[in-house]
Amino acid sequence: MATEAELKAAGEKYIPKDYDPALYKLRHSLAHVLAQAVVEKFPQAKPTIGPPNEYGFYYDFDLDVNPTEGELEWIANRMKQIIKGKHAFKVREISADEGRALFKDNPYKLELIDGLTKGQDEYGNASAAAPVLTVYQQDTFVDLCRGPHVEATNDLDPKGFKIQQVTGSYWRGDSKNKSLKRFHATAWASGDDLKAHLARLEEAAKRDHRKVGRELDLFANEPVFGSGFPMLLPKGATIRRLLETFITDYERRAGYLHVFTPDIAKKELYKISGHWDHYKDSMFPPMDMGEGGNDDEELCLRPMCCPHHIQVYKSKARSYRDLPIRIAELGNMYRFERSGVVGGLSRVRCMTLNDAHLFVRPDQVKHEIAGVLQLMKKAYADLGITEYRFRLSKNADPDGPPSDKYVDNPAMWESSTKMLREVLQESGMPFFEAWNEAAFYGPKIDVQVKDVMGREETLSTIQADQHLPAKFELEYKDSDDTPKRPVMIHRGVISTMERMMSYLIELYAGAFPVWLAPVQVAIVPIADRHFAFAQKLGDELLDKDYRVDVDLGDKRMQAKIRDAQLQKIPYILVIGDKEMEANAVAVRLRDGTDLGAKPAAEFVAMLEAVAKSRTLK
Ligand code: ATP
Ligand code: ZN
Ligand code: ZN
Repeated sequence: MATEAELKAAGEKYIPKDYDPALYKLRHSLAHVLAQAVVEKFPQAKPTIGPPNEYGFYYDFDLDVNPTEGELEWIANRMKQIIKGKHAFKVREISADEGRALFKDNPYKLELIDGLTKGQDEYGNASAAAPVLTVYQQDTFVDLCRGPHVEATNDLDPKGFKIQQVTGSYWRGDSKNKSLKRFHATAWASGDDLKAHLARLEEAAKRDHRKVGRELDLFANEPVFGSGFPMLLPKGATIRRLLETFITDYERRAGYLHVFTPDIAKKELYKISGHWDHYKDSMFPPMDMGEGGNDDEELCLRPMCCPHHIQVYKSKARSYRDLPIRIAELGNMYRFERSGVVGGLSRVRCMTLNDAHLFVRPDQVKHEIAGVLQLMKKAYADLGITEYRFRLSKNADPDGPPSDKYVDNPAMWESSTKMLREVLQESGMPFFEAWNEAAFYGPKIDVQVKDVMGREETLSTIQADQHLPAKFELEYKDSDDTPKRPVMIHRGVISTMERMMSYLIELYAGAFPVWLAPVQVAIVPIADRHFAFAQKLGDELLDKDYRVDVDLGDKRMQAKIRDAQLQKIPYILVIGDKEMEANAVAVRLRDGTDLGAKPAAEFVAMLEAVAKSRTLK
């Protein structure tokens, strides 16, 4: 028999690698406290499982009623009482038979016990861990649990949690099974941490790009298109066009050559590249063009542009003097993302990547990657993205389960990973390493940004690849006239237009800097007699390539100003008699600041300076 300390220590290994152990234990312990309170309130409730998650925990119960607000409040208060009761979390090893007796009235726990004895985890997945059954008890409540937990309820802050809602779920997540009630709670080490989290939630809800996108008419999801296929409305399309011009201009100056290649190719292409073997799950099924003639083939929507840019490289013979060759494209690609993960613009199924492939000599790899990092930093500065960190994304964790996601070539993985690690080290930029995040053909440097909720996503990516050049037998003629194989660098600097837009919408809560704002100037004539002057001013600005909205509607001035502010238009120009006479404009900013009247020419000069310098306002 193991001692209590040994059992507790054994439970530690169940804490996921990237989870703060203190928060994990605290959330998991609160889940038990919640279960105790729920069962006291609803003695018929049967607890199933209750794991910690990103911001708290949930617990699923087989329960025949929908708890009322009042009942939830009772449960929360009862939890506080239990916490204040200073109960220890006592762990005990039990045999399967003891477990079956203990939980004889709870078919879910009985199923869990059966699974555990067969080496399955609580979700019914095969698990390597040798099953030792343990139960944890606090106060009167006993739960089948592998831990780990805090020592006692004294370690929990009665002000540190909040029950958020109760939703429906299914046993083992399968809609064929019994439906359950899921109690969601957010839980933190202290009341202050909880408050900070709730404030972040509120801020995130305000900035949510789906909400802002609707309010500002940027994009929409049309059910008849299907999920993951949003459409950009005129204002969203304007932002996208600005981003595209912005990045392609930078690339042109950095020596990139832009191409257009087709979105569709024969399946054969992806068989050669290895996409068919390693990436098929993320591709739309091929289109079978039927028998006969030239149509006797299967066509695929491309999930990446690499094989296409390789054909550009191969379109003529290359010499060592030609390299590096930097092929770029705002490439459309199609990925069969699962319907559960697509949403808004951040994860879509049809996307346009700011893609490029650099074909370089081995001695140029580091220098070229450093160049990409430079380009990325410049672009981020203009876009106002200041908080990011670098991740060296590697293939399968050698200690984890085997994976067929990556090409099998240990020497290649080792040398490519080493190359990227050295570039990061030499650049002096802090970075962290992560397993299981590589591309199938090679490791990556991913640039991770945080959203309002602190969740990370990848914007830029730089990949070193020695696999595809070999598959496609790429060559250049070296100085000694022998054929050599180039290395390929895949890179996306401002990500897909979709993901970058979703990120920027949330970063600015829709109040884009002047250079990116879909409408930069709103002109508000006070009365009908000012319309002609307003229109003429609007045309002049349009002619200078500014984006202008002249409000010729019949609303009153204050309402028009308010509309322009709600649309987050940076400059609002009010035109009345005085302005007309003096060829002036009364300038207001979207935050309500009143800059007073200015000669029209002075305003135009100010606008030009702000827009040209990409001032972040
Ligand atoms: P992820 O891990 O986000 O699925 P990935 O590693 O498959 O992406 P890459 O093939 O490197 O992505 O694609 C380049 C970039 O395109 C990503 O870094 C990400 O910013 C963006 N991206 C990838 N998938 C999507 C998507 N479904 N919708 C929008 N943008 C995407
Ligand atoms: Zn537990
Ligand atoms: Zn690529």
